[in-house]
Amino acid sequence: MQALIMSSKEAVQTAAKEFIQFVNKGVSPYHVVDECKRRLLAAGFIELKESEPWDVKPLNKYFVTRNYSSLIAFAVGGKFLPGNGFSMIGAHTDSPCLRVKPRSKRTKQGCVQVAVECYGGGIWNTWFDRDLTVAGRVIVKSGAQLVQRLVHVPRPVLRIPHLAIHLQRDINDSFGPNKENHLVPILATSVQEELETGCASSGDACAAVTTAEKHQPVLVRALCSELQVDPDSLLDFELCLADTQPAALGGLYEEFIFSPRLDNLHSCYCALQGLLESCSGASLSTDPNVRMITLYDNEEVGSESAQGAQSNLTELILSRVSSSPSNLTAFQQAAPLSFMVSADMAHACHPNYTEKHEENHRPAFHKGPVIKFNSNQRYATTAVTAAVMREVASRANVPLQDVMVRNDSACGTTIGPILAARLGVPVVDIGAPQLSMHSIREMCCTSSVLQSTTLFKGFFELFPAVRSSLVLD
Ligand code: ZN
Repeated sequence: MQALIMSSKEAVQTAAKEFIQFVNKGVSPYHVVDECKRRLLAAGFIELKESEPWDVKPLNKYFVTRNYSSLIAFAVGGKFLPGNGFSMIGAHTDSPCLRVKPRSKRTKQGCVQVAVECYGGGIWNTWFDRDLTVAGRVIVKSGAQLVQRLVHVPRPVLRIPHLAIHLQRDINDSFGPNKENHLVPILATSVQEELETGCASSGDACAAVTTAEKHQPVLVRALCSELQVDPDSLLDFELCLADTQPAALGGLYEEFIFSPRLDNLHSCYCALQGLLESCSGASLSTDPNVRMITLYDNEEVGSESAQGAQSNLTELILSRVSSSPSNLTAFQQAAPLSFMVSADMAHACHPNYTEKHEENHRPAFHKGPVIKFNSNQRYATTAVTAAVMREVASRANVPLQDVMVRNDSACGTTIGPILAARLGVPVVDIGAPQLSMHSIREMCCTSSVLQSTTLFKGFFELFPAVRSSLVLD
């Protein structure tokens, strides 16, 4: 039977809905990697370990994780030889959030509370009055083993309440919470806890010795019941707070995505999907390059960690895949033939603050991914890398936009300049337009998912041909 041919609007909405499923699962960087891993295994990718020898072969597909929060996946072209290039798309798995402190137990005015640390540059006032939960990873002692387990409590258990307007009359003029004092979520009341358990939690974690004692017993019980383990077996954890409200299509025409963590799970998803779709056709068999996605943790805090974009992870993997006893400079030869798309979200022009945007560089919804320029190297795009991307986009039939910040405005940055400097690889910075970046709930347009996925799939399929058309001498 003939496959269903979807209209363009249907294809856009289908892609957006598939992304929504992905982002709803990506409640912490560990869950993002876990979901990517599940999809890669289902598509026939083989997991490699950094600690083991590799035997990488053309037409095979692989992935590696580090710290279970960064992931590199790659498919080797059928015509790949050591010294050939890498077609890469990079993104990041982390988003600004609140994280549970190592000693989080606090009790104040009969409220059972959980102390949290700010991770990255969030718009923290958007975390007030949201229905929050916790998700992340726990290290559990199981017999003689220390085992990593992922955990996600799938219901609203925490809340950071606003102070009533009657007690802060100027809140609509300015609101800047004190990040230590005002962002402590409430988990329960001592009164209810005594009713439920016969023993009310009190005090703080100053004198705590065991992990279970450092946190509220009710939180420890919730985690242990999700994990089906004993409180004494908890050794340590990294827990992110997350909004329990799932991502949704929005707007009267359902043309928007209202969602947490668009920055940067939108790019992670489109990179992954672009890779998977590019590998499902016949083009991989004639590809001289390796197609690769690199998804890093810790971009929101500067990328300087063992699993961040500043780490040696990318270089080690590229050099291992390039290595050949018959060509000792294969990795060095590969770098200038390679290309990285640094995929991270871009600011759409905000209709209520147009003056914040440079007047000729105002990205709009539905008009395509945005190439980011900054001569001061906050973005790594050059005339060459932008031209390569424009050629790919025109062949893949995806519109593009350009952005640059005003001279009197601060400029964000990405993993792009870091990887350009570390690897010596040409990089283009690009991303889908969104609003509310770093809010607990952001928004973008539905068409951006299909546009980015199509562009990234096209990049993998077309880059070697576009690269060979470049005349730079
Ligand atoms: Zn980002």
